[in-house]
Amino acid sequence: MTPATGQPRATASGRSGASAEVAAALRKAGLADLSDGVLERALYSSDASLYRVVPMVVAHPRDTDEVAAVLAVCRALGVPLTCRGAGTSIAGNAVGTGVVLDFSRHLNEVVEVSPHARSATVQPGTVQAQVQRAAAPFGLRFGPDPSSHNRCTIGGMIGNNACGSRSLAYGRTSGNVEVLEVLTAAGGALRLTGPGALPPGTEHGPGQPGRAGERGTPDGGPLPLLREAVAGGLATIRTELGRFGRQISGYGLEHLLPERGFDVRRALVGSEGTLAVVTGATVRLVPEPGHRALAVLGYQDMASAADAVPGLVARHRLAACEGLDSRILDVVTARRGPGARPALPRGSGWLFVEVTGESAAEATARAGEVVSAAGGTDAMVISDPRHAAALWRVREDGAGLAGRTADGRPAYPGWEDSAVPPASLGNYLRELGALLGEFGLTGVPYGHFGDGCLHLRLDFPLDRRDGRTVLRSFMTEAARLVARYGGSLSGEHGDGRSRSELLPIMYSAPALDLFRRVKTAFDPDNLLNPGVLVDPRPLDADLRASAFHPVRQSLALAYRHDGGDFAAAVHRCSGVGKCLADTTAAGGVMCPSYVATRNERDSTRGRARVLQEMVNGTLVTGGWRAPEVGKALELCLACKACSSECPAGVDMAAYKAEVLHQAYRRRLRPRSHYALGWLPSWARAASYLPGLVNAALVAHFPGRAARFAAGIDARRGLPAFAPRTFRAWYAAHAGQRASGGTPALLLVDTFTNHFDPAVGIAAVGVLEDAGFSVRIPRRRICCAITWISTGQLGVARRVLRRTLAELAPAARAGIPVVGLEPSCTAALRSDSVDLLTTAGPPRTAGAPGPAARPGAADAKAVAGAVHTLAEILATAPGWEPPDLTGTPIVAQPHCHHSAVLGWDADAALLRRAGADLTRVGGCCGLAGNFGAERGHYDVSVAVAETALLPAVRSAAPGTVLLADGFSCRTQLSGLAGRTGVHLAQLLARKPGSLPDGTRNPWRHGR
Ligand SMILES: Cc1cc2nc3c(=O)[nH]c(=O)nc-3n(C[C@H](O)[C@H](O)[C@H](O)COP(=O)(O)OP(=O)(O)OC[C@H]3O[C@@H](n4cnc5c(N)ncnc54)[C@H](O)[C@@H]3O)c2cc1C
Ligand code: SF4
Ligand code: SF4
Repeated sequence: MTPATGQPRATASGRSGASAEVAAALRKAGLADLSDGVLERALYSSDASLYRVVPMVVAHPRDTDEVAAVLAVCRALGVPLTCRGAGTSIAGNAVGTGVVLDFSRHLNEVVEVSPHARSATVQPGTVQAQVQRAAAPFGLRFGPDPSSHNRCTIGGMIGNNACGSRSLAYGRTSGNVEVLEVLTAAGGALRLTGPGALPPGTEHGPGQPGRAGERGTPDGGPLPLLREAVAGGLATIRTELGRFGRQISGYGLEHLLPERGFDVRRALVGSEGTLAVVTGATVRLVPEPGHRALAVLGYQDMASAADAVPGLVARHRLAACEGLDSRILDVVTARRGPGARPALPRGSGWLFVEVTGESAAEATARAGEVVSAAGGTDAMVISDPRHAAALWRVREDGAGLAGRTADGRPAYPGWEDSAVPPASLGNYLRELGALLGEFGLTGVPYGHFGDGCLHLRLDFPLDRRDGRTVLRSFMTEAARLVARYGGSLSGEHGDGRSRSELLPIMYSAPALDLFRRVKTAFDPDNLLNPGVLVDPRPLDADLRASAFHPVRQSLALAYRHDGGDFAAAVHRCSGVGKCLADTTAAGGVMCPSYVATRNERDSTRGRARVLQEMVNGTLVTGGWRAPEVGKALELCLACKACSSECPAGVDMAAYKAEVLHQAYRRRLRPRSHYALGWLPSWARAASYLPGLVNAALVAHFPGRAARFAAGIDARRGLPAFAPRTFRAWYAAHAGQRASGGTPALLLVDTFTNHFDPAVGIAAVGVLEDAGFSVRIPRRRICCAITWISTGQLGVARRVLRRTLAELAPAARAGIPVVGLEPSCTAALRSDSVDLLTTAGPPRTAGAPGPAARPGAADAKAVAGAVHTLAEILATAPGWEPPDLTGTPIVAQPHCHHSAVLGWDADAALLRRAGADLTRVGGCCGLAGNFGAERGHYDVSVAVAETALLPAVRSAAPGTVLLADGFSCRTQLSGLAGRTGVHLAQLLARKPGSLPDGTRNPWRHGR
């Protein structure tokens, strides 16, 4: 091992001998949760940066003794150690070639909140939002709030000296740490409590006081050498460090000045895991302000907005002052549709200025004062917290949204968070704009303008031969520019692998020498996060983006937005980790499997990493059939939540379908693929003798055998086939159908037809009541979702072609097609187009996009005509829903509602009806075939427990459980013993008098 360069002695591919040796030594030292397997190493091979660095071993320590044991092994074997929280670092700060120590899995507790001392003691892997939740009951909060607050850890915030939009009010992490507990590379434990609090030589090893004689230190620890270095460099520190608030680059040695009391605690914050390992911290809590208000100020452009900042900051007490311009709104519009573009004051550059007050009126008045002093083109005050939150969301998603330019090209971090003293920001922006023009680069800028910090991702041409040269040249020129303005290469995220090499442009040789001496004092053997800050890796080494080749041959899906390239599609994941956050309480769904298991493998990001390694082919070598790929995708529910909630647009359900399709091509599949994938065909066969089939399935032995043969978990019930299908009912009542009215074609899906005809019957009644003349397709049709979700994409395409041929004439004639089952409706609105468009050549300017397969035109026509029930009813003139005033309704929109169809029309309709609506986030956990399959039951239940089941338990008696998905109703009945109601049924009759056909169609398993 050569820790100085951070390069492994072992090869990156497979389980290397060196990895196994390290893993064995760690196990011997008592580590229980670790892996040197390919899967785990792939999962941790990147953070949210440009870089790909494959570790030898990933370890998840359970206590401080285990951390000390890892350090001892690393010392003995000369293996580098990289600490990691949530891995949301953007500069390559949290990747390493040796052991990656993940604190987020086990060491993630808030140990104590002390309202009197206004502090919280936490383990290093505790998520920032968790600290906020623990402090909130006392009216307190932890000040620094990075945009990644719902997944980033306190250890990682300490590592990077993180702060956020509200740093004007709360400062950086360094100013909010009261006590730091660390282990040095030599294994010494330090409890750092404040300026000068620690006399020299008082550190001790875990459980053994007075450890002395560490290597490189004369008297048993890094502190004497540190004092010596600082004493020799006072002038350098005073002139070069701590010059302005967002000077994050390099070490924070200003805290070690005598006038600051030699505060080692604060100096270690921001050292990016290169000096010591944080094992615990006590952080300061501050009172949560009573009320906030937002002033949105419009300016001619972003630089003019920046020019206004110093005046505003000087005259007003601001909690936040953020800048953005129309480019981020263009991305929002391109990604989320025109409806998502917020209305802002006139202008092309804006400041979002937050102020606080004891009362709402005081906060609003303060915002008004800011508006009168703004001097821009236009302004508005927003005091409604929901409106303000929606605007902040645009800003918070910035890093993810800015991962693509408005026209869809990837944009990369690198020059991500430069900062200058705020008075210079306007001019810096102008010069930086000119520099970008010289290099032909574009990006989406935004940032913490109140502090002079600018976020910017750029479309470095990393797929081109000269991509690295462009990256290196631009970064060097930009570093020179920021240095000329007295700024910092990093104003927030640390230097990592992106900028450490450029530190000589910002700092003098004596300052760099001081950094080296500090590093040597703490970590003489360069074990801790080598390649970062001191002895840096080249900024253009280990680039993830240039480590893949296109995958375009024989794909089943189109990857329309990725030039038909599966590799480009999976590389959409930039690692920002929104999928690791539990957003269920705010109505989010992504990523239900991770929320249930908390294992990186089960996150959208983890899956994307493994697929990235699959297309790279050096670590995960088995291609589509690699066992690591199968394991990573095993618990993906194909809920599609990521396709709409991931800011980078990762669509893991589609990638999973492709992988299953490719992996099982002309091969035997799992049993459930034949049973549940072909459910529409089995259901049709069963419809000839439903009573007999039901009787057989409910009997003990045949039922067990059927579950086994179908690959269904023994704890699951089997659906009962309806005695009469919906189509049969429709045919029997055809003579009673109203002939007048606006024509509408009702999609008869398998679930409504064979299992729950009451839903279809109710829908016919509601639609006719709303003035529609309801027809159904002449032939039996199917949306093919069961074949899509099991990756039988050839069959799916054939089935879809027949279906689309049946529906397209009506769609082209302007007749709306109404879907009842959300997954079927979503399949016709989106998957069908992807399946019937050929993956074509990469899209270049002027070149045609992916070519059309037969049926593609039908798919587009039908996709445009498909409506949900709520959507079609919203178009019915004069129709009024039943009076549901005061009716309590708990609704968990189907995950394909959230991801593809939207649920706004449903919510609006229910509110119009006067219902007392509670919308539940998350997923029901059954998700089509997923929860029924053997091996998925426990995770399926855990997913249901994240939101749905608690909401059902706490619902008042008589609450209507609204669930449009057959899966969702099945899960409700199987796990809660409650009957879910489809919107059609709710609208057809008032609650309490549901149609006779509404019943629990599943029998309990044995
Ligand atoms: C979408 C997005 C938005 C962001 N917004 C902001 C923002 O507004 N403000 C901001 O400051 N940052 C922001 N960041 C950067 C990043 O999220 C923060 O720096 C965050 O604090 C990192 O926390 P983490 O748990 O992910 O740490 P990691 O990335 O895992 O680690 C961060 C650093 O800390 C070190 N480290 C981790 N744990 C320990 C430990 N126990 N002991 C010693 N060293 C340790 C690591 O080695 C690494 O160098 C953003 C990132 C993303 C992706
Ligand atoms: S999948 Fe999306 S949300 Fe998750 S880390 Fe990747 S880019 Fe971020
Ligand atoms: S489809 Fe659902 S379960 Fe699968 S990765 Fe996306 S959000 Fe997670």
